[in-house]
This record gives sequence, structure tokens and C-alpha cells, in this order.
Amino acid sequence: MIETFTGTTEGPDAAALRERARLCFDLDVDICIVGAGLAGLTVALEASRMGASVAVLEGRHVGWNASGHQLGTVMPGFGLPIGELIERIGFEDTKELWDLSKEGAAYVRANAMEEHIPGIALSEGALEVSNVDVGDQLISRLQMLSEDFETEVEGWQIDRVRSELRTDRYFHGVYYPKAFQIDGRKYVHGLAAMARRAGARIFEDTPVVSIDPSGIRKRIVTPSARLRASHIVLAGNVHLGAPLRRLSETLLPVWRYAGVTAPLGERLAEIVAFRGSVSDTDGIDHFRIVDGDRLMWASPETTWAARPQRFAGAIASRIRTIFPKLGRVEISDTFGGAIGQTVHGMPQIGQLRKGLWVASGFGRQGLNTSAMAGQLVARSILWGDERWRLFSPFELVWAGGATGRVAGYVVGLWGRGSAAAAGALARHRERARIQERVREARLAEANRQGGTRPAVRRPPPDRPRPAVPRQSPQSQQASSYREPVPAHEEPPQAPREPAQAFAAHSYPEPPLAAAHREGEGP
Ligand SMILES: Cc1cc2nc3c(=O)[nH]c(=O)nc-3n(C[C@H](O)[C@H](O)[C@H](O)COP(=O)(O)OP(=O)(O)OC[C@H]3O[C@@H](n4cnc5c(N)ncnc54)[C@H](O)[C@@H]3O)c2cc1C
Repeated sequence: MIETFTGTTEGPDAAALRERARLCFDLDVDICIVGAGLAGLTVALEASRMGASVAVLEGRHVGWNASGHQLGTVMPGFGLPIGELIERIGFEDTKELWDLSKEGAAYVRANAMEEHIPGIALSEGALEVSNVDVGDQLISRLQMLSEDFETEVEGWQIDRVRSELRTDRYFHGVYYPKAFQIDGRKYVHGLAAMARRAGARIFEDTPVVSIDPSGIRKRIVTPSARLRASHIVLAGNVHLGAPLRRLSETLLPVWRYAGVTAPLGERLAEIVAFRGSVSDTDGIDHFRIVDGDRLMWASPETTWAARPQRFAGAIASRIRTIFPKLGRVEISDTFGGAIGQTVHGMPQIGQLRKGLWVASGFGRQGLNTSAMAGQLVARSILWGDERWRLFSPFELVWAGGATGRVAGYVVGLWGRGSAAAAGALARHRERARIQERVREARLAEANRQGGTRPAVRRPPPDRPRPAVPRQSPQSQQASSYREPVPAHEEPPQAPREPAQAFAAHSYPEPPLAAAHREGEGP
């Protein structure tokens, strides 16, 4: 089994919330769920509310892995960019998936109320910032999100972004006023408490060592008990291991680490005025303010398990790179967990064979997507809802085993490196534009004083003369969002995203992929 180090001390409330019970007697239930992370617990809560008898078997404890060590940002959508989704499955199916992802976020919001989960600390708004100057691309994205996908978004110009976040690293932004953040750790324990109240039984320190999914009543074996169930839901993410190793191998485990600074006092508000979550479009940094004057920041990633404490220095220096005016920051807490990355970037949701279900591979965006998956799977089992089939185009593709991890690491490094290079280029161009404007202003002033006519600027001879773009009514409408770019400059190229680059690898397809397609057994 892959080792995960959470590397953080749990508060007394977390310990009190945990009511550890190991399964040491045989049991018969309607639904047996493997894994008490966000996905498994959502299935448990929903299925119990619908009247099924449910047992959750967790090898460690509730929220042991990523689910108990995340930043709590709840956004619509998936890890895979919307444009790539449309390319892959077409507009109509993308729209349905997008609506499901919004339902997932709404589900989290409905649960994350103070009366259900005390201290959940819900706050509104999330901002996605660009590391490069891609205003034009953002305009079409904004139009698509708001008009075609009915998602409330605002485009922020560079000035607005930089008045909220005092750094020259970020350019334009997309603000999601309906996105929100919660205390992620409280949420997973609150979900477990709600599932228990609805009648689910959660057994911790109870690893599932094997399953036999044949027959109507399926068999599940743990070190000290045997269960029988009509349905098994595999929600073990990258740690599933022995019960269905071939399924585990369709996920690339990526360990993501985060830290929380010591209180930073008033200097933080001067530099980071924005109070919601911030993430960059390259998926490198993700942060928000917690406890009034501390920064919670996720960034480093590895494809092997390491102690999060090791990354305290890297997180501090990353904060300094983005916000140099903050000065030195001390990291007082670190944590991390393994996320399951699929080759295509979309989660694994569906029925592998009759009565055997999977809900895994939620990547970096697991809060809304695992909520969506939990609802879909429970409704499919109990009400015959077939919408999980929308995920059928995203097959179970082998993630490359150990070789895949090395490849994933290299691709991740390359993605970060190329994002950094693109960011540096964008900042260089921005500085050059400013210098050019200053030079032109000086020249105009000199001409005015000398009574001469200003020189006509021509594009340099090595560049083709740019065509004058014809503006559509829509682009005119959005043009207030556009930054002025000198006519002879090309917009910088956006780097390829790591997920996209990873998906470009073709791995041999195991028999499981075919099974998933046809709904047959592995
Ligand atoms: C640092 C960090 C920050 C993040 N921030 C965000 C964020 O702000 N917003 C967001 O949407 N997402 C975020 N994520 C991603 C999100 O946390 C994950 O996508 C999500 O938690 C995955 O949930 P899960 O239930 O699939 O998996 P897990 O949390 O891994 O849960 C699976 C559980 O199954 C158990 N298990 C596995 N195998 C067995 C077995 N054989 N028997 C018994 N039990 C088993 C494991 O012990 C584990 O507890 C973040 C992740 C990290 C690491």
C-alpha cells in the first residue's frame, strides 16, 4: 500500500469527531463502500437517506488522505478545461456534465451549513488568475461560461487583479462569485457525522483486502470480518490496492502539499485584499487567507510520498516569489495528500459490472466532483438514474504504473517550467510595452516643444504588417475587458497544461477499459 503522510497535528475537535470502530463481526448490507473520503462518504449519506443499509469500510480513518487535507475551495467544473471537454465529447454532453458539476457544488453548499457542520466557515468567491497576458482568450471563455454554461462569472482586468493581489505575476482574472470555500477538514468529518445520523455505519481501521464481485450477493473480506452486499462502491482513490489492483493502476498518484503561515498581521491585507480562493490557470498555486491574517497555500507536487514538513521551505519561497513585498514568511503548519490523476483528466464514475461501482480519480478538484459522483452513484443504485453513463467516454486507461509516475513527474516539472517561462515572457513583454510608451511620450513631448510633427510608427521590417481585426458585436461588447496591446505585438502563447500533456501519452489499454465500456466484469 502506498504510504501517505498527513504531517499535521489534528486539533482536539477532529479527535473528538472521530469515533473509531473497527469491524470485527460479519455483516450483511445493501451497499458496502470502500473508503471514507469525500466520495465514499457522499455515497453513504445519500444512499442512507434513500433508505438503504450502508457500511463504509475505511482502512485508516475518516478523511485520512486528501479529503481531510485540502483547501476547501468549491468551484463548478472539472480538472479538465472546458474547451478540451467540448473537443472530446461535444457541446451538448459537456453542458450536461457541467450542470452535474454545478449540482455537486450546490450539494456541498447545502451540507456546509452551520446547523449541519458547526464551524464550517463558508465564505464566498473564487478567483482564477492567469500567469500570462491572455485577455483575448479569457473573453471567449467568459462568454462561453456565462452564455452557454449559465455560470456566473466576471472578467477582471489586470488593474483590478493587481489591486486585489499586489504582484506583477498575475494578469487577467475570472471571478466566480458563486464559488465558495469551507473548512475542508471539518467538512469531511461533518459528512461522516451526517451519514451516521442518516443510518450509515462507518468502520475505521478496517482495510478491505479482497472482494468477490461475482453473483448477486457480493463478498468483501477484511482482516477480521466478512461482508455480503448487493452493491460494492470502490471509493478508495489511489490507495485501493489489493481489492482491484488493475483499477488502482488507472490512477497516477500525485502528492500535493500545502502549508499555513504564522499570523502575518496587517501587512497581509495590504498585499492580498481578496478574501476568497485564488488559483492560477496553470494549476500551480492555490491559496487563500485563513484566520484573518494567515495564508494557506498549496503548490509543490511529487509522484512519490514524502513528509509535508519537507516542503515548508519550498512553500515559503513560492509565497515570496509571488508576493515579494510580504517579506519573509514562516510556515507554521504543513499537510498534504495523494490525489488520483486519470490519464484523460476526468473522474472515474460508473458501474464496472453489475453491482460493482467506482467513484474515484477526482484530481485537484474533488469537492464538487466527488459530491456529484456520490449523488449519481447512490441514485443509480437505488433509483435507476443512468446519468453516470455520461462519463463512459472517459475509459479506465492504464496510468503507466511506476513508469507512469516517473513520466508524470517529468511532465509535471516540464509543465511548471514552461508555465514559469511563459509567465516570465509575459512580464518581460509588459515591461517592454511600458518602456515603449514612456519613450513615445518623451518623443511626443520633444516634438511638441520643437514644433515638429510626430513620426509615424511603422512595424519593424522583420514583422508582417498586422491585419486589422474585424470586431464582432460580441467582442465589441467584451472589449472593455481587453488590455491595450501595441499593434505589432503578438499575444504570448499559453503553455500546454500538464494534464493535457500527460493525456497526450498513449498507454496500452488494459482489458478493464473494455470492460468499463461494455459494463462487463474485469
Ligand atoms: C493539498 C490539497 C489541496 C486540495 N484542495 C482542494 C480544493 O480546495 N478543492 C477541491 O475541490 N479539491 C481539492 N483537493 C482535491 C481533493 O482533496 C480530492 O480530489 C478528494 O479529497 C478525493 O477524495 P476521494 O474520496 O476520492 O479520495 P481519498 O480522500 O483518498 O479517500 C479515499 C479513502 O479510501 C481509503 N481506502 C483506500 N483503499 C482502501 C481499502 N482497500 N480498504 C479500506 N479503505 C481504503 C483511504 O484510506 C482513504 O481514506 C486538494 C487535494 C490536496 C492534496
